[in-house]
Amino acid sequence: MERNTPISVIPISDLRRGKDLPAAHAQTGALADIRGRQLRDLRISVTDRCNFRCVYCMPKEIFGNDYQFLPRSQLLDFDEITRLVGIFKERGITKVRLTGGEPLLRRNIEHLIEQLAGIGGLDIALTTNGSLLSRKARGLRDAGLNRVTVSLDAIDDPTFQKMNDAEFPVAKVLEGIEAAAAAGLTPVKINMVVKRGLNEHAILPMARHFHGSGHIVRFIEYMDVGSTNGWRMDDVISSREIVNRIGAVYPLEQVDPLYTGEVAERWRYRDGSGEIGVISSVTQAFCHDCTRARLSTEGMLYTCLFAQSGYDLRRLLRDGTGDDAISEAISGIWQVRDDRYSEIRTTETTSPRKIEMSYIGG
Ligand code: SAM
Ligand code: SF4
Ligand code: SF4
Repeated sequence: MERNTPISVIPISDLRRGKDLPAAHAQTGALADIRGRQLRDLRISVTDRCNFRCVYCMPKEIFGNDYQFLPRSQLLDFDEITRLVGIFKERGITKVRLTGGEPLLRRNIEHLIEQLAGIGGLDIALTTNGSLLSRKARGLRDAGLNRVTVSLDAIDDPTFQKMNDAEFPVAKVLEGIEAAAAAGLTPVKINMVVKRGLNEHAILPMARHFHGSGHIVRFIEYMDVGSTNGWRMDDVISSREIVNRIGAVYPLEQVDPLYTGEVAERWRYRDGSGEIGVISSVTQAFCHDCTRARLSTEGMLYTCLFAQSGYDLRRLLRDGTGDDAISEAISGIWQVRDDRYSEIRTTETTSPRKIEMSYIGG
């Protein structure tokens, strides 16, 4: 099976250069796109590999034994990632999230975190399937990681294994969550993707299990990322329905967002025992304040999870281009950004060929 190469690459030379940029943005500092959205977050996919085969992300039929993952030489190395993050920081980012694929499979990921923490002034987060977290949590925290999100799609083994198509016990992920909390990576956030007919019966048991635990479960609407998961609108359970189901047992009230552009809608238990979140990526798109850019494993920059084309920053890193010119290229890319896929998605406009999440970074 051919690996998931970018659909198209926009030559950096086609971008507007500094002299064409609006004066207010030609300097370093916060950058706004043509819809006024600032560049604030960078998600970095540090590996396209994973030890799970979640049906909604890397289905086994496609990502089986003969799937070609990226060779090591194609991956950005830690110095390259750190250099780019330093440049992005000058352009206004305040948060970095390491993801993948499964980021804890990247050898010595702690070293990368240490390097990124060394830049200073950045909130460093990581999203993981939790399989290696129990033994890595302390080291990640010591290296400078600030926050962790753990994916867990059910609290019972049969459903969990049906979702991730791997023989991995829930108990090991729970150990990882507790190790993260013990290491001070709190509050731990837990992502549950809900797919109709597969794990919807696990919504309430998940809420019940973590009710009062201090961890925050976020229920995510199943999205049409990539083109291998066979997404259908009928498989989506809306966050409204999820809140209604949980609220019927544990009464909930909505809480204000912590900051503009917060992806999850927050709900708190009326009995005071914590909160949950819902991420309505499909039914209530939040493109209007999306501040996220994505860097793929091999250094392609994407301005949307559903982008059809990316910009090859690795070439600039490897051909001797200086920091100022790379910074200018990033400016040019962000300032022409017009993405709002989720706002204009309909069943008819769902593109047949999209980049896989494991490559672009979830
Ligand atoms: N392997 C790590 C993990 O699973 O946490 C990090 C990468 S994963 C692509 C990042 C997040 O994207 C996970 O929480 C996962 O559940 C979510 N995700 C993947 N495919 C999705 C889809 N089709 N719809 C909604 N969320 C999805
Ligand atoms: Fe792996 Fe995460 Fe994708 Fe599941 S969601 S297959 S754990 S990258
Ligand atoms: Fe951001 Fe694209 Fe998602 Fe909209 S669809 S919220 S622009 S990543």
